[in-house]
Formats: sequence, structure tokens, C-alpha cells
Amino acid sequence: MAINIPRGTADVLPGEVELWQYIEKQARETCKLFNYREIRTPIFEHTELFQRGVGETTDIVEKEMYTFIDKGDRSITLRPEGTAAVVRSYVENKMYGDPVQPTKLFYIGPMFRYERPQAGRMRQFTQFGVEAIGSNDPAIDAEVIALAMRFYTNLGLKELHLEINSVGCQVCRPIHREHLIQHLAEHKDELCDDCKSRLDRNPLRILDCKNEKCKSLTKDAPNITEHLCENCAPQFEAVKGYLDQVQIPYTVNPRMVRGLDYYTQTAFEIMAEGFGSITTVCGGGRYNGLVEQIGGNDMPGIGFALSIERALLTLKSQGIELPVDTTLDCYLIALGEEAEKKTTVLLDQLRAHGIAADKDYLSRKMKAQLKAADRYGARFVLIVGEDELKNNVVIVKNMQDGSQTEVAVSELISYILAQ
Ligand SMILES: [Zn+2]
Ligand SMILES: [Zn+2]
Repeated sequence: MAINIPRGTADVLPGEVELWQYIEKQARETCKLFNYREIRTPIFEHTELFQRGVGETTDIVEKEMYTFIDKGDRSITLRPEGTAAVVRSYVENKMYGDPVQPTKLFYIGPMFRYERPQAGRMRQFTQFGVEAIGSNDPAIDAEVIALAMRFYTNLGLKELHLEINSVGCQVCRPIHREHLIQHLAEHKDELCDDCKSRLDRNPLRILDCKNEKCKSLTKDAPNITEHLCENCAPQFEAVKGYLDQVQIPYTVNPRMVRGLDYYTQTAFEIMAEGFGSITTVCGGGRYNGLVEQIGGNDMPGIGFALSIERALLTLKSQGIELPVDTTLDCYLIALGEEAEKKTTVLLDQLRAHGIAADKDYLSRKMKAQLKAADRYGARFVLIVGEDELKNNVVIVKNMQDGSQTEVAVSELISYILAQ
């Protein structure tokens, strides 16, 4: 019996992989523009990292992690997100001691969450994310947001919509929390089961609940922005001011809490007209307590993450075609055994000069070989038969305009390169 791919995972095949490569290249180039450097951390980490770094009461840690005991009896987890691991590496490698500060990093790689698979939500998915650690300057909040916006604008995504909020800090969040609990306690029995248990542990998450009843109960709930402290309020004002200056439009959404516990102050989401409805295509925020929580010094940080699968689906649903190059420069056709040997040498020379080239390996007839050249998107077909062999020439067929010309073997490379 054939073995199938696990649920919630996907193969990226040739034809589609070029889109991935294009998006990854855009991500790297955008990060280069903003002076963020790539970091690569392991795909698995100690489970404790995510319990401490993502939060014990989050859906991710409670329900969605791929956790197993390895042969050395350690609890290991496939990373469900990127920030905790980057911060772990920042602390472990003492990056706070680098002479260049703040530390500006980005990553691209697979993440794993045991979720119900649906469009744009896979159990293995690929995230592109950035982290700026070591600065509390609200200008860097705006920079991180601008980077995400630039990335999508360069891909051609239309109708981007930015929502921002401040989720406060250890000083003002408990005050808001009390107001929220007070407001919701009156209707405790009407909350969904998840939210009943959230009420004492993590009431902020109730604002995020998708249950219609919960939504209506939180409609008049107090907003965090009403309770921001003397640090958080001006920080939020300054972030908005910087966004205004670089003309990035936004809406303040005081209900946005984000799914992760470690966020403080700035939180943001970028939405776009997507597959079927408005889709969140990027989420991020400030996490000033996280470095300390993971065992480092008290260092502020901010970042975002986005799913490349979702970005691709959104681009597709907006009808945006990415300018990927799938052409081949030359396809060689040999007629006869001697010519066959000659094309092997030519093939090698072409490739040595940076010309992408291929030939037939299935002993097909001339007509079938021409068809293959067409399928590969070959710009030129080079034909070598007995006559050409004798005269030391090659027939060069231009597949775009159909024209055909004889080129001396000694001139072939410079001829192709000049085209
Ligand atoms: Zn505060
Ligand atoms: Zn609920």
C-alpha cells in the first residue's frame, strides 16, 4: 500500500517552489534594506522554552505542540513559533554584548502546530519573522511595522490594512484585568467553557474568543487603552506618530490582544483582502518581559511573524502573479551517435559559462525533443546533426521568434551570451 503525506502538511513541487523562492528572496532583500540579519535556530527545542516563552495558558502550549520524549528522556518540542527560540539564542550567545545594538534578526523556517487543518493553516507551516531586541525606542516599533508593510507592498499585495493596539505592561495590565474580570464576572455563566476557565487565568484572551455569545458579552468591556500607564500611554502615542510620519495608515483596535502571553505595549496585525474574507497576513508586537523570562537580563524586544503559506494564498486570491523565471537558456538536440558525444561536451561548456542548458536522455525522436524544449521554456534549441558535425557548426533555433541560424562552434558561447 502506498504511504501518504501526513495530514496538515504539504509537498511544494517544482512549478510552485519558484513562488516560494521568490517570496523568500523578497523577505531577505527587505531585511537587508532594514539591516536585519538572518538567524537559524534548531527545529526542536526543550519543551520548557515554549512553556516559559509562549505561556502555559496559551492555546499553542496547552493544545497544539508536537511534544515527545527523546531517547535521552528529555521532553522535546518541535518549535510552534520563532520568537522564543531567537530569544533563547540571543541570551545563550550573549548577543546583548555585541558592539552593534540593538540586535536586529530575521528567520525563515518551518513551525509546527497540531491544529485542525484548513485553508492557510497547516500543521507544518513556514514563518518569516523579525526580532529587534535591546531598544525601547517607539521608532523601532514603527520600523518593524514598516518592514512588514514594505515586504507585502513589494510583493504587490493590495488593500493592506494595519491595526494596532497597546496591550499595556505589568503595571497597567493588572488594573485593566481587574476591570475586565469585574465586567465579565456578572455574566460568567453565559461565557463559553473555554472562556469560563480563562476568566481567572487569562481574561484578556476572552476578548479574542470567536464564540458569538462571548463576543457580544465583551462588546462593552473596558478597553486596555483607557488604563494605559504613564509609560505605556506616551509610548503608544509615539508609535502612532512615527507611523503618521512615514504615511502608513492604521486603525486602532483596542480589542486586539494577540494569541501569545508575552506581548507588552505595541501589538499589531496586518490584514488583507484574502481567500474568501479579510485575512490576517502578519502579526506582531513588543515583548518587553520575554528576555528576562527566558533567563536573560531585562531587555526590551519587538517583532512580527507571518506565514508564507498564507501570504501565497492571499497573493493568489488577489490574482497577483509573481515574476518568477522558469525558463531554460538552451536545449540541445543531437542527431546521431557522434553528434550525441559532441553535445555532451557543448553542454558542459555552456554550463561552465553560466548558461542553463539541458538535453534529451530518453533517446526520443527529433519532434519529441522539440516538444520537451518547449515544455522547459527553452529560449534556444541547439541542433547538431551529421552535416553540422562535419562543418563544426550548430543550428541555433530561437524559440521566441522561430528564426534559425548557423553558428560556428567556436562562436557559440559568445553568440548565446550576446542574446
Ligand atoms: Zn503600562
Ligand atoms: Zn468564549
